[in-house]
Amino acid sequence: MFQWLLQCQAPRLPKAGETIHGHRFFTGFGGKGANQCIQAAKLGARTAMVGKVGKDFFGDSYIQNFKDNGVNTACVFQAPDVATGAASIVVNDAGENAIVIVAGANLLLGAAELQASLPALSRTTVLLCQLEIRPECSLQALRTARQHNVKTIFNPAPAVPDLDPDFYTLSDVLCCNESEAELLTGSPVATVEDARRASGELLGRGCGAVLLTMGAQGCVVLEAKGAATHHVPAPAVTAVDTTGAGDSFLGALAFYMAHYPALPLEEMARRANHIAGVSVQAVGTQASYPSRTDLPAELF
Ligand code: ATP
Repeated sequence: MFQWLLQCQAPRLPKAGETIHGHRFFTGFGGKGANQCIQAAKLGARTAMVGKVGKDFFGDSYIQNFKDNGVNTACVFQAPDVATGAASIVVNDAGENAIVIVAGANLLLGAAELQASLPALSRTTVLLCQLEIRPECSLQALRTARQHNVKTIFNPAPAVPDLDPDFYTLSDVLCCNESEAELLTGSPVATVEDARRASGELLGRGCGAVLLTMGAQGCVVLEAKGAATHHVPAPAVTAVDTTGAGDSFLGALAFYMAHYPALPLEEMARRANHIAGVSVQAVGTQASYPSRTDLPAELF
């Protein structure tokens, strides 16, 4: 998904009908798919985004942002009469927020656009999908990838309890966070033990492997049926803004699956932890994602 972010910082959240003064306003680029794609591109992957924006100032700016980051935009379509997806965010001094997301043109991505993207989808090495567009569209993209032996990563976010079972069987790697795992399995996921259990349950639904991210605790990896579940701790860092950390992790994972396919998933997770751990030490989402030149050579 593409999202223009319009964020205000204010002493408190306004009540219904109220106007208040804030201290800071800024805009940014967001949306899970777009964030993940930008992180992979910043690490040096050849990336292409499939999606839809409006034919408006925000859509044009978003496409330019992709081009500036080296992302191929041949499969980014523009809807003439619907606005680009946007999120209006107010954050108070306690760090709490109130957010309105308008999906806009993202929901117009459909069969015609997927058909037009087929040459790119069938030639790629790794496909990464989420649930911020119409689920049947993600499902169709995953099916196409499978038909062409493209490795698939599925990020079931935002999670829905009644996920189509085909999402599991079409995922080589299913990667989600604790709250998504909780919603999908119906059981609380707070501890590493919970995450191990949830990973086992998700793997049992037919995906090839499971990666469950746990914020400062790192992640849990379950590479195959019958394998042991590994906890991969995150490096200890001082986090200043964790927004979009999950997307940084996923973008890094996609990069490693495409460029270092022989690495064990546990090692990819260790490196992705490192990269997402760098992103939480700076403010912003895409702006906080490290490039290859910011990172130690041992990660490549
Ligand atoms: P978001 O929704 O904010 O994008 P998320 O909830 O999907 O994030 P998390 O599980 O919070 O994802 O974090 C993803 C990864 O980012 C973690 O597995 C870890 O590698 C890194 N990370 C997140 N928070 C921290 C932190 N406080 N310290 C170190 N690493 C962190």
